[in-house]
Amino acid sequence: MNKQREHYRIAIDGPAASGKSTVSRQVAQQLKFVYVDSGALYRGMTWKAVREGVDVKDAAAVIDLMDRSTWDFLVEDLILKFTIDGVDPTDHLRSEPVRERVADIAVIQEVRAFMVARLQETAAFGDIVMEGRDIGSVVFPDALFKYYLDADPEERARRRHKELLATEGRGDVKEVLTSLTRRDQIDRTRKTAPLQIPLGARVINTTGLAIDQVVQRIVDEVNAHRNSSA
Ligand code: C5P
Repeated sequence: MNKQREHYRIAIDGPAASGKSTVSRQVAQQLKFVYVDSGALYRGMTWKAVREGVDVKDAAAVIDLMDRSTWDFLVEDLILKFTIDGVDPTDHLRSEPVRERVADIAVIQEVRAFMVARLQETAAFGDIVMEGRDIGSVVFPDALFKYYLDADPEERARRRHKELLATEGRGDVKEVLTSLTRRDQIDRTRKTAPLQIPLGARVINTTGLAIDQVVQRIVDEVNAHRNSSA
């Protein structure tokens, strides 16, 4: 009997603007794995709350809204996409109202339980690269490959500022640093699944490193494993 091989799961965690999104996308592209941005789900819930006029600090109202909404997931061009009540929120996920509220939504335990379950279900889509804050610690603690990407706060603020200039045509480095630091603080100190280095994760400090170098390192490690177990 042909024993099917287990799917690969690559967990990439780290704080905001640590380089994990770019690295995760490129690793997934090179390996032809499905890319899953777990933060997009938390941002999606935040977008829904803002759109419906629900205060993100009112946990009961957020949970009620979540329970009344229907989420559908699909993979398009090896990228996980989703709709909430039939609407694709992608274009709104990086907007300021979402950015400033998402960490408050992510502290709600019921929201986390819902998102973790949805993220675990994506394993059915095949080999996966998933980025987030609790992927190697909570969502896929058994992942064969776990990485924790970090960078100095100033470097992270510079990167995010550059992105904002490109997407919104404005931004102030100091404000970006304050906003990132606030979000990190909430993420690191929350009771449920705080941002931390998962057990067994390889830590990569990306300050001063070219993204390509980080991508190559991960791709090489996965390929070495694939070749040795082929
Ligand atoms: O990765 P991204 O910056 O899009 O994540 C947005 C927010 O979603 C994070 O600041 C964090 O509060 C929350 N998040 C989380 N757990 C994850 C991914 C994101 O709590 N696995």
